[in-house]
Amino acid sequence: MTKEIRSVEFVVLPTSRTKARQMFQIAGACRFVWNHFREKNLGDYQNFKNGKGTQPPVSFFSLGVEFSKLRHETDWLRKLPAHPVRYTLKHFADALKQAMQGKKGFPKPRSRRQTIPSFTLPSEENFGIKKLNEKYSLLRIPLVGWVKLTRRGGNPYEDNVPKQVVLRHDGRRWRAFVFYEVEVEEKLDDGKVLGVDMNVRQIATSDGHFYFLPDLRRKEARRKKYQRRMARQVKSSNRRKDTKKKLAKVSRKIVNIRKNWVHQTTKEVADRYGIVVVENLNVKVMTASAKGTVENPGKNVRQKARLNKGVLDTAFGEIRKKLEYKCGRLIEVNPAYTSQTCSECGHADEENRKTQARFQCVSCGFASNADTNAAMNIRRLGMARLHGEGSGISTAPANREIDARLPNGQQSI
Ligand SMILES: [Zn+2]
Repeated sequence: MTKEIRSVEFVVLPTSRTKARQMFQIAGACRFVWNHFREKNLGDYQNFKNGKGTQPPVSFFSLGVEFSKLRHETDWLRKLPAHPVRYTLKHFADALKQAMQGKKGFPKPRSRRQTIPSFTLPSEENFGIKKLNEKYSLLRIPLVGWVKLTRRGGNPYEDNVPKQVVLRHDGRRWRAFVFYEVEVEEKLDDGKVLGVDMNVRQIATSDGHFYFLPDLRRKEARRKKYQRRMARQVKSSNRRKDTKKKLAKVSRKIVNIRKNWVHQTTKEVADRYGIVVVENLNVKVMTASAKGTVENPGKNVRQKARLNKGVLDTAFGEIRKKLEYKCGRLIEVNPAYTSQTCSECGHADEENRKTQARFQCVSCGFASNADTNAAMNIRRLGMARLHGEGSGISTAPANREIDARLPNGQQSI
């Protein structure tokens, strides 16, 4: 048994307007503190960038000391709970550190309009959770008091220890992400290896399974319609607000359908196989957006490619992330040539790919669904990696570095 952190998402039902307002107040204070420290540190940052002076202290601890002073001097801030508001500086310290190291730009200001209202209850002392009945749990938030939580399917980890809670407003209501420490059985590396070929609307596996994303075209068309309508409408008009609401609703639905699909699919895969081989995302996304996606095959427009890259990044990133924690072991391989190489004889040829969907080897005659064939190649590359042999496909260098960083950690698809 090992311990892992798992999160469960609940809908928050604040039982009064006051409680809802207080939650926004805490989130607003976090934004204020972020912006305050941003301005305070901008000068130091610029000096340091220009080679003047040594790097100023940027740890959560040193910022925390400053925060205590600020809080002491600011009446309205003192009325709000210290820990959740101070925790903003944890994120800020990380962002600042990266900026000082030149990895990222200086942290951007958080605006009332653009920033998603959110705050964190960083440790067990800051909150309480208890079960109310089959349908509801209760969460205690400092200042706000108890609010109701609900989740379809109940709470799978209700017997575990909650470590942290993140509250976020999704434009319509508050959601609580509760992080539990969970005892998990170590997934046995049972030697069964599965290759997975990822596409935006479907996943193909080397054992011939397909997992299709539910058809979202009508919903996506509706989303586009509302987007266009909104662009035409007069700013801050009631009609525009109405459209905005509808747009938010359909977008949320699309997000949830994708999310559920990723959850179910990765669970099914992980239940059957201990070792899963996927394509290296960075390379996959690059080639996929250059080619156009499944939806827009061949439309090689640069803007489109950039747009697709974002979509693909999150879609694949989410699948990969879920597989990583559900499977015993995840192996990444370079996807180059996996779509044109014959999984039977290893012959690589553009001619092998008869159509988008069909694969037929011009050398040995092996025919299969193109994505299944790709998944089988991915599996073989993974096996080669496992056994430390050559690549298995002569033309494709398989020994790329594994990039452990995930694109868009928080974002769901
Ligand atoms: Zn062949």
